[in-house]
Amino acid sequence: MTTAWVFDPPPRPTVPVADEVQVFPVHRIYCVGQNYRAHAREMGDSGREPPFFFAKPADAVCLDPVVPYPPMTANLHHEVELVVALGRGGRNLAADAALACVFGYTVGVDLTRRDLQAAARSGGRPWTTSKAFDRSAPLAPLRPITACGHPTAAAIRLAVNGEVRQQGSTADMTWSVAEVVAELSRYFELRPGDLLFTGTPPGVGPLNPGDVVTCEIEGVARLEFRMAPA
Ligand code: MN
Repeated sequence: MTTAWVFDPPPRPTVPVADEVQVFPVHRIYCVGQNYRAHAREMGDSGREPPFFFAKPADAVCLDPVVPYPPMTANLHHEVELVVALGRGGRNLAADAALACVFGYTVGVDLTRRDLQAAARSGGRPWTTSKAFDRSAPLAPLRPITACGHPTAAAIRLAVNGEVRQQGSTADMTWSVAEVVAELSRYFELRPGDLLFTGTPPGVGPLNPGDVVTCEIEGVARLEFRMAPA
């Protein structure tokens, strides 16, 4: 018997896999806060706090070459990040088991309404409107680990209109991919299709309408998009 939907269900968010016809179905998008010490410091913390988690909706994934400047902010920031894609899930995973769940990696930008985030931080309020807005997760196609391995010491950078703004190495992460996935699995049952943004190196800053954003994790993926003109 076929299901009688009240309305047609929306298509499932997906991410293409580089050089493959297969596409990766997105289950959830998790994000880690402050996983690079130098960025934690620029946000006013000591850099030694344990990472914490927040989330974006699965349909925040944005694969379009033009990203709309979101409403209700005057200070949209870029955060370039290594993104982990899980091909398997689980709960209470040990670090080595967590790493075995990884299908692949890509580069993404955790777009942030920094003005709303600052207000939320000072008011002790949630980050939903500052982090989880529509199309807040621009991503490049995934690279399976069979193609790129685990990028434990890969250069990560982001440029705006050709000027390098963020630069670092995934080796500078406070908690490794294995440790972050293991820790996340203590709070949530991880599922195939989960994406995890692993934190950003220093140099976050504003984006304006019309800006061209290019970012890369060496040996993994490259992403370019333009902020829609005003
Ligand atoms: Mn981030």
